[in-house]
Amino acid sequence: MNYIILDLEWNGSYSKSERKFINEIIEFGAVKVDNDFNIIDTFSTLIIPQIGKKICNRVSELTKITNDELKDNGITFQQASEMFTEFSSDCVIMTWGNSDIHALIDNYMYYYNDYHVPFLKKYCDIQKYCEKSMGIYNASQQIGLSTCAEELKVGFSEEEHHRATADAVLSLKCVKKLIDKYHIQDYIEDTDNDDFYHRIKFKAHFITDLNSPEIDKSQLEFNCKLCGGTAKRTSKWKSRNKGFSANFECNDCKRAFIGRVYFKKKYDGIQVNKKVYYKPEPDENTDCESKGNKTGDN
Ligand SMILES: [Zn+2]
Repeated sequence: MNYIILDLEWNGSYSKSERKFINEIIEFGAVKVDNDFNIIDTFSTLIIPQIGKKICNRVSELTKITNDELKDNGITFQQASEMFTEFSSDCVIMTWGNSDIHALIDNYMYYYNDYHVPFLKKYCDIQKYCEKSMGIYNASQQIGLSTCAEELKVGFSEEEHHRATADAVLSLKCVKKLIDKYHIQDYIEDTDNDDFYHRIKFKAHFITDLNSPEIDKSQLEFNCKLCGGTAKRTSKWKSRNKGFSANFECNDCKRAFIGRVYFKKKYDGIQVNKKVYYKPEPDENTDCESKGNKTGDN
């Protein structure tokens, strides 16, 4: 089986007709590798922006791609799509994280009114593969490609980094450091079904209504972290920072604490995150705060 490591560069372009920003793809860079991850072919093209007329400063600083370069050497997204689909026939597509797939979905939706990516039959997120293999996977905090390369002692030049083909090669070098020890097959997904697209397009969000039937009410109970005893709630629930918090008191050791809970709706279900904060013990020598309050009441 052959694999393609694909990297895209894009520009935040404002679409007047859609009234929103679209991550408009301006460069495709890819390497095709064989079963042993040796490079057998490369693909590189610039794309003339059709949604935004100019690339923004941040993108041109990061990528060093200029508007003139795009105008002189670029082709249309539709042309690039046809060429790349031919180049990648029956290969597993790999990208560093799934933001490139999000960009592809947005561009196909814009140009073809169809979010299916024609060359995507089998997909592998190599960021996830690297993180899990390195034992540093954390769904809410992903590492960047250059950090991963440093961790794995893969050399790269900062000059070339952030250009599509160079980043694809860098991703490949990271994979090659791990491939003998960790099976990549387990990370390859079939993408010719709508479940893949629903999953990738699903936007995780916090549930901010405490009465939502999706909330498991038993998650609103807290135990004391200090003695392990049960606790009773001593205030109403308050919405706070996308979560809910309330005061509690331990039934055993009587310590007061704040219980905070977040419910995040993900594609696979609700993720619950609970935290407990203890108030500092009242200091008998410095009770000026309570005295101050009494004075204030007068
Ligand atoms: Zn306790």
